[in-house]
Amino acid sequence: MRKPLVAGNWKMNKTSAEARELVAAMLNPLREIAGVEKVLCPPSTSIPVIASALTGTDIGLGAQNMHWEEKGAFTGELAPNMVKEFCGYVIIGHSERRALFGETDEHVNRKLRAAMKAGLIPIVCVGETLDEYESGRTGEVVSRQIKLGFADVDSASASRIVVAYEPVWAIGTGKASSGENANGVVRQVIRRALSEAFNENVAQSIRVLYGGSVTASNASEFFSQPEIDGALVGGASLKPDEFVAIAKAASGR
Ligand code: PEP
Repeated sequence: MRKPLVAGNWKMNKTSAEARELVAAMLNPLREIAGVEKVLCPPSTSIPVIASALTGTDIGLGAQNMHWEEKGAFTGELAPNMVKEFCGYVIIGHSERRALFGETDEHVNRKLRAAMKAGLIPIVCVGETLDEYESGRTGEVVSRQIKLGFADVDSASASRIVVAYEPVWAIGTGKASSGENANGVVRQVIRRALSEAFNENVAQSIRVLYGGSVTASNASEFFSQPEIDGALVGGASLKPDEFVAIAKAASGR
C-alpha cells in the first residue's frame, strides 16, 4: 500500500511573515485530513518559522532544493544536514532548476544520494518538455532522467524516495495533463525504469506523484488513477482552500 502524499511547492513566494499567515490559514483544516501525507515546501528563509508552526502536527516540511556537498565554499547553497535540521523532505531536480539553473541528471543524482545519506525523503522531479512531448520522446526522456538520476542508489532504502512526474508543459500553464496520460507515463515509463534501477518490488513501493496545474477541480482525476499516489502542487498550494481541497481529494483515494 502506497500512502498518498500531497506536497505544496511555494517556489519563490512569501516573506516569512506572509508564510506564517498562509500556514495559519490552512493548518487546522489540513490537520483534520487523515490518510494522506501532507508536506509544505516554503522558501528557505521561511523554513524555521514554518517548522515552529508545524511542531506537534502531522504536516511535514520540505526544502525546494539542496546541495550535495556537506559544507564548504558554495555560496548561496544549503547542505543536506542544514535541511535535515528542520525538514524531513527535499525537492530535487524540479524542472525550473533544470531549465533555469543548469541542473543536469548528474547533479540530480548527487543530490539524491546526499539526501538519502542525510535521512531525508527526496521528492525527485522528472518530466518532458513540450517539444519532447510533441515529438513523442516522453518515454525516452523520462526513462533517461530516472536511469541517470537514480544511479548507485541503494535499493534497500529506495522505497523512501518519492518521484514527481511533472510534464514541463503542464507546470504553471493551466494546461494539466489528462489523468489517463499521466497514469500511462507512470505505468509504462516510470515504474519500468524504477524496476530496472532497483527491482520490481521497489518500483511498486515508490510513490509517484503527478504535478502540473493541479487544482481542486482536477485533483480527483489524477487521484483516481491506480498509478498516481498524490500530487506536487505549485500555484494552487498558495491558496489555502485549494490546497486543503486537493489534500482532501487525495485522502479519499
Ligand atoms: C510545480 O511547481 O511543481 C508545479 C506543479 O506547479 P503548478 O502546480 O503551478 O503547475
